[in-house]
Amino acid sequence: MSPAGFHEMWRDLLPVGRDATSGGYRRYAWTGADTDCRAWFRAQAEDRGLRYETDRNGNQWAWLGDPNGRDAVVTGSHLDSVPDGGAFDGPLGVVSAFAAVDGLLARGARPTRPVAVVNFGDEEGARFGLACVGSRLSAGRLTPEDARRLTDADGVTLATAMERAGHDPATIGPDPERLARIGAFVELHVEQGRALADTDHAVGVASAIWPHGRWRFDFHGEANHAGTTRLADRHDPMLTYANTVLAARKKARLAGALATFGKVGVEPNGVNAIPSLVRGWLDSRAADQDTLDRVVAEIRTAAEERGSRDGVRVEVTRESFTPVVEFDNALRDRLAGLLGGDRPEAVPVLPTGAGHDAGILSSELSSAMMYVRNPTGVSHSPAESADEDDCTAGVTALTEVLEGLACR
Ligand SMILES: [Zn+2]
Repeated sequence: MSPAGFHEMWRDLLPVGRDATSGGYRRYAWTGADTDCRAWFRAQAEDRGLRYETDRNGNQWAWLGDPNGRDAVVTGSHLDSVPDGGAFDGPLGVVSAFAAVDGLLARGARPTRPVAVVNFGDEEGARFGLACVGSRLSAGRLTPEDARRLTDADGVTLATAMERAGHDPATIGPDPERLARIGAFVELHVEQGRALADTDHAVGVASAIWPHGRWRFDFHGEANHAGTTRLADRHDPMLTYANTVLAARKKARLAGALATFGKVGVEPNGVNAIPSLVRGWLDSRAADQDTLDRVVAEIRTAAEERGSRDGVRVEVTRESFTPVVEFDNALRDRLAGLLGGDRPEAVPVLPTGAGHDAGILSSELSSAMMYVRNPTGVSHSPAESADEDDCTAGVTALTEVLEGLACR
């Protein structure tokens, strides 16, 4: 039996972890849906006679050629999702990678170095709150101790979740030997914006990933009765929070940056109670570190100023931060050359505000990204999409890239 083509693979994977009500995906790390996605990956590897392995951090690999050879060309992405995510973010890169390996072999190309398809584990961080856990561990950017302690909303640690899914958490940790064998990593991903949507290009390449981080804002007020407390006597943290959300939007707009409060917790969370505490999480991103620092500082100042008027104490904690990632310029130019033929300068080169495994790995090895046009520009939602023709263009482009990097 010949291995499944792109559309067949896509159809196979489509129902896995999809919620019947929302239509979105709930493929969280080390859950049943994730296990099913991983079984799918393994089956694809084995159907093609590729050498399959799971590394110590739970990342999956399918090798054409010697897994221990040098200067490997690796492509792939992730299969997990955010809560009610779309079908394309992650899977498009993995399915396209298998299809590109097929395309390479169908052309009769002979790789002179190993080629691998990879599925990085726990990229979205939907369950344990930290993104790119699989690649962070391999790159030594997250200690095994810290990783094992990560805890989901039900109090289950990452260590326990791994164990339940049949992966030994004692083995996790840096994997420098494996990364040293990789000459280039190229991640194909659905575009998470509309930069390509209004162009004639189905595929672009990445220039950089904006620096980004998450900050927790704790607004401490005073719980009281909503019916008996005079407005003048209140210390209402919801008010301070609401003003901070508006300030964040304004500061970001003025600086050309992004700032989002997308998650909020309220105590005691009663309809007829002035809250004692509002906890809001700020996600902010900008083209450069100085701008990002300035925007977050301005939002903090706005929160504190408003808090002093409301009698609300504001506490800010930075929970995570990722500095700017510049992809390997030489590899990016090579990709543009392979995709653009005699007009490499016409291939769109795009920055992004989203983090990726390719960004984590860029400090350890030569990495690059390719984006496939997304007509809605929507991401992390079931509305995320890519046309069939554009997916095919992505596979063709990735095949070119594999041939260019691994066969010449
Ligand atoms: Zn992704």
